[in-house]
Amino acid sequence: PQKLLIVITPTYNRALQAYYLNRLGQVLRLVKQPVLWIVVEMDAASMETADILRNMGVMYRHLVCTKNSTDTKDRGVHQRNTALEHIERHRLDGIVYFADDDNIYSLDLFESIRGISRFGVWPVGMLAQSKNKAILEGPVCNGSQVIGWHTNEKSKSVRRFHVDMSGFAFNSTILWDPNRWQRPTSDPIRQLDTVKEGFQETTFIEQIVEDESHMEGIPPSCYRIMNWHLHLEARGLVYPKGWMLQKNLDVV
Ligand code: UDP
Repeated sequence: PQKLLIVITPTYNRALQAYYLNRLGQVLRLVKQPVLWIVVEMDAASMETADILRNMGVMYRHLVCTKNSTDTKDRGVHQRNTALEHIERHRLDGIVYFADDDNIYSLDLFESIRGISRFGVWPVGMLAQSKNKAILEGPVCNGSQVIGWHTNEKSKSVRRFHVDMSGFAFNSTILWDPNRWQRPTSDPIRQLDTVKEGFQETTFIEQIVEDESHMEGIPPSCYRIMNWHLHLEARGLVYPKGWMLQKNLDVV
């Protein structure tokens, strides 16, 4: 049987949310099953998200994160933790992947991560609006062996692993492995909560993988970009409530 893919997506109501969730959902629908899409919102489950998920035709769980948070820089951190706790509590056995709603994913990506045995990592294409150029973040590989990292200005040297949130996936058994790389006391779930912006990925990975020798670069030689992280701001756009037209014939 095919390995279960567990895709974790934090989301929130904003102008392009329906567009993002439809786009990602339709990709997941085309991926070979089984796929479980865990979509997590803050505070309450919104009607809009529930509606999209119900009609998507993808197996899903719609979770709510109730942790109090006033920090706008969190950008999905607590929501991802809620999903990890859910996976751990129910001992869901599969490959876990953090897929933000606004990124672009190829089908190949999902086929590739299914082959991961412990921890897989790959380069992600970033399209930065301001710099008007594409940059890469992720591993440099020799075969499937990770031998170095593509870096960008934001990530210069301080970070141990130069990986984007959408550039790695791992076997869920790591979450409850008592001998997690000889670090049985560290708890990736709680730790992910406390780290500052820009360090979430590396802090998380440092707790579940000892070093590059335990990583699988995919696809072998990491020669191909399989997903893209756009930094597009939706600020200033109008959010049409729920995408429902109340006054059909009301022309202004
Ligand atoms: N997100 C969220 N609540 C927020 C901000 C972000 O749920 O207040 C989600 C968002 O929908 C996306 C992920 O967290 O799935 C990453 O957000 P964003 O792309 O804005 O962050 P960036 O990747 O640009 O740092």
